[in-house]
Amino acid sequence: MTTISLAQGDITRFHADVIVNAANSSLLGGGGVDGAIHRRGGPAILAECRELRAGHYGKGLATGQAVATTAGELDARWVVHTVGPVWAADEDRSALLASCYAESLRVADGLGARTVAFPAISTGVYGWPMDDGARIAVETVRAAALTSVEDVTFVLFDDRAHGVFAARLGDDS
Ligand code: ADP
Repeated sequence: MTTISLAQGDITRFHADVIVNAANSSLLGGGGVDGAIHRRGGPAILAECRELRAGHYGKGLATGQAVATTAGELDARWVVHTVGPVWAADEDRSALLASCYAESLRVADGLGARTVAFPAISTGVYGWPMDDGARIAVETVRAAALTSVEDVTFVLFDDRAHGVFAARLGDDS
């Protein structure tokens, strides 16, 4: 049984076997969580991302998929990079956002990770409404069939996001 916890703060200061990165398809860095992970994690993460781009991921990482690299200097064993969908009012991309959580957990489980930390994927620059993002995150993690992962923590940057996730976790339990 996987437990779900909440924390508030900067995910790059969090300790977990896997820290999930809300990456973009280039895998070569960006703003928000992505920028913070590469800044604090150091150049080893970017070097491995470049190797991925030179190999199987020549066109980049598709939306909803996930791939692992070293965690560099972060207090973690791996970073799992996943690409969230950009919010669109006229198109339901929920399945892609759910896939980010499910695929990241599948990769983490395959690595033998016991603890996984997620940011609120797509809710920053990609514009997903926080409440719906929290609903999808919580539902998807609850539905995942995992063997090695014992604890999943959502690390929310601010008070509001933390409150929204807390309400979602409380609602559905
Ligand atoms: P996306 O492009 O998938 O929307 P962002 O990185 O822009 O990704 O934002 C995703 C969420 O992560 C937002 O809610 C944002 O406030 C939050 N966030 C930004 N930086 C950090 C950080 N260092 N730690 C945890 N959460 C963060």
